[in-house]
Amino acid sequence: MEGKIALVTGASRGIGSAIAQKLAAAGATVIVNYSGSEAKAQEVVEKIKAAGGNAVAMKCDVSDFGACKELADAILKEFGRLDVLVNNAGITKDGLIMKMTESDFDQVIAINLKGTFNMIQNFSRTFLKQRSGKIINISSVSGVMGNAGQANYSASKAGIIGLTKSVARELASRHVCVNAIAPGFVETDMTDNMPQAAKDGMTQMIPMGRLGAPEDIANAALFLASDAADYITGQVLCVDGGMAI
Ligand code: NAP
Repeated sequence: MEGKIALVTGASRGIGSAIAQKLAAAGATVIVNYSGSEAKAQEVVEKIKAAGGNAVAMKCDVSDFGACKELADAILKEFGRLDVLVNNAGITKDGLIMKMTESDFDQVIAINLKGTFNMIQNFSRTFLKQRSGKIINISSVSGVMGNAGQANYSASKAGIIGLTKSVARELASRHVCVNAIAPGFVETDMTDNMPQAAKDGMTQMIPMGRLGAPEDIANAALFLASDAADYITGQVLCVDGGMAI
């Protein structure tokens, strides 16, 4: 990844932070995006620098199309190119459909699905002109299998899969690869407040018998971002210990 410029959205914590650190350790200069957690994003930058890598934190709410355009302009002005775009920023607002509010639905779609569109749209011209690039969208096994209590989230993550496949078809002739990773159940802030009994129940659904770590997802992201994945596009890679088999 030496000499490559990578943007990871929602990289202040959890999976995004692990992906940012993994790409930087492999030699990429990483833009650590965040929306609210400035101090945590700065901590990720400092960790990367302490390990000998290059990184910078940049704020942007991915659900705001205009802000995404400003971020894209700022990145292209500072670095002149973008080689890897990881659309990782995401939220949950879980609840059974009977109780799910319109706002719960709209917010999850706005950040998870439209945020992914906003970033891809604002960088698509750059990738086409460069005739190279890797776009990695973080979906979820919930988007592949569905999950009770996550109608909004599953819809957003299934939407990301459709978006991935369509954009992959559009950009393939210019050597731009577009893939999705569908993590299973990964231990981060997002899953932290789940009761232990629910976590134990989840673990029983995982053939490999353990929850995922952010690093498990980061390893897959590094592979898809690397030249080793140059002939892979439009795919959904489940990194889930076998949960979605
Ligand atoms: P997390 O620990 O809650 O971190 C979420 C990240 O997204 C934070 O860095 C947060 O930054 C950022 N973010 C939230 N809203 C944003 C916005 N509007 N604009 C920019 N950044 C925003 O979550 P995680 O577990 O690492 O999840 C990362 C991704 O993996 C998500 O897309 C999630 O859906 C997906 N995923 C997670 C699991 C799991 O089990 N954990 C499973 C499957 C898929 P700020 O704090 O700065 O807002």
